[in-house]
Amino acid sequence: MCRHLAYLGPPVSLRSLLFDPPYGLLRQSWAPRDMRGGGTINADGFGVGWYPGDGDPVRYRRAQPMWSDTTLPELAGVTLAGAVLAAVRSATVGMPLHETAAAPFAEGRWLFSHNGVVRGWPDSLVPLAAGLPVRDLVTLEVPTDSALLWALVRHRLRAGAAPGDALAETVAAVSAAAPGSRLNLLLTDGATVVASVAGHALSVRRTPDSVLLASEPFDDDPGWRPVPDGRLVVATAGGLDTRELTLA
Ligand code: GLN
Repeated sequence: MCRHLAYLGPPVSLRSLLFDPPYGLLRQSWAPRDMRGGGTINADGFGVGWYPGDGDPVRYRRAQPMWSDTTLPELAGVTLAGAVLAAVRSATVGMPLHETAAAPFAEGRWLFSHNGVVRGWPDSLVPLAAGLPVRDLVTLEVPTDSALLWALVRHRLRAGAAPGDALAETVAAVSAAAPGSRLNLLLTDGATVVASVAGHALSVRRTPDSVLLASEPFDDDPGWRPVPDGRLVVATAGGLDTRELTLA
């Protein structure tokens, strides 16, 4: 069920996050250690978004398995960033296979990812979608649950919500409308990462000047800490807070 990660800290190569770790996203694309809720591999696409200096993030997304991309490893070796969000995808049955369905989704400073599934999709979310501007619906990047979740989060961000509130409110609304959904969301603006833990695993590894959040630890470093289900994590390179989520 998809795997994602986010990093904030001193600039590092994308390769050191994606390809070098023994259980990094490359390995997780064919042999994840902790898959839940169906699916065995994450071969339906992948994406990475990073912040070049002070600019808005750029993305590299593909609809193919990460292991079959022969271009990215070289690029990743020479691309440094101090803020990164990346994901590998295991498409939910019935959802399209296209690079636009691979996280991260983006707007302006924001990068977003969803690890999970919305139960009863799409009917269960019709009442929530009705609260979005029609323009957001007709310009939805791809008809997947994750793209609609991004539209719901983005709508709150555009209205000025703090990122943690935008995620927490969206998780509360969706879990009420579609009980049993798995809603591990990840959102960053390059300075703060917020993550919900609702139905899937999430682990955190901190150093004095960096933070990593990942669906599963990408190595056996004893510094990885699992985050309990039902929590919202708000992290910067220098600190970390958690609070309870409201789940149906
Ligand atoms: N449901 C989403 C999709 O199909 C996310 C899938 C996942 O987390 N495995 O893209």
